[in-house]
Amino acid sequence: MTIELGPSFEVIDPRFRRLAFPNVHVEKLADGCRWAEGPAWFAAGRYLVWSDIPNDRMLRWDETDGSVSVFRQPAMNTNGHTVDLQGRLVSCEHRGRCVSRTEHDGSRTVLASHIDGKRFNSPNDVVVKSDGSIWFSDPSYGIDSDYEGDAAESEIGDRCVYRIAPDGRSVVRVADGFVQPNGLAFSPDESLLYVADTGATHRVDGPRHIRRFRVGADGVSLSDGEVFAESACGLFDGFRVDAQGHLWTSAGDGVHCYAADGALLGKIRLPEAAANVCFGGAKLNRLFICATTSLYAVYLNARGAGRPESAG
Ligand code: MG
Repeated sequence: MTIELGPSFEVIDPRFRRLAFPNVHVEKLADGCRWAEGPAWFAAGRYLVWSDIPNDRMLRWDETDGSVSVFRQPAMNTNGHTVDLQGRLVSCEHRGRCVSRTEHDGSRTVLASHIDGKRFNSPNDVVVKSDGSIWFSDPSYGIDSDYEGDAAESEIGDRCVYRIAPDGRSVVRVADGFVQPNGLAFSPDESLLYVADTGATHRVDGPRHIRRFRVGADGVSLSDGEVFAESACGLFDGFRVDAQGHLWTSAGDGVHCYAADGALLGKIRLPEAAANVCFGGAKLNRLFICATTSLYAVYLNARGAGRPESAG
């Protein structure tokens, strides 16, 4: 006999039952945002930082006492964040139109702002590979209007995915052919790169899917790029991959969990559209979810993959 999961979970494939706990439910940790995005977990400090983009601030949730405070405001309308191999915050800035890093002393370093002499549109989401390279998407959301940045024309005239070399000295385009590239994450062995395209916001019948690229032996070049998953509810924005290769993605009705074979296993139901997720907590088995006005969290029988969000 199987003990049913609680109402926070929707099982679509029986494999999902092993990833969730029957007595666990989704907890709301914070609210009051206009568009919550970009969660990043700082293991040593036991806190989570995320963006509230239209309010031009970053917030911080403290695991030690559950308090929420303003981490930074103004905040360059930052969107996605991650933590690099040295534990530093790496941020996508809409208003700065760049990827920046917050150093250990608190100062800001711009890592990439131009390619071929042209400014990026508005970097959206970012991931650090185990070799120290930084990969980010560059859709136009932060320059489309003054709501989430400063309205401007695209200088590049395209919306692509880029890679900053481990030594920080060069930036190259690694993938194109998107309408609006968005969230991105590697498989646990980094042989695959997943990239969301939320182009349905800008084109009738535009993409609302995640593509999967094969990473070449050089660790840089990408091939294939077939559609891995298509959203039937809202858009896939940001996502993470767990240590077993399951992909946990934001969607219109919460978080959808996919197996590496592309099967939709189940959902974490939320009352708001989700925008991004990340694993955190001492065992990296707690999924933090930025969903419109709120920050939610839920414990899973799964652990985050990739560094530095993996203790692996
Ligand atoms: Mg995004």
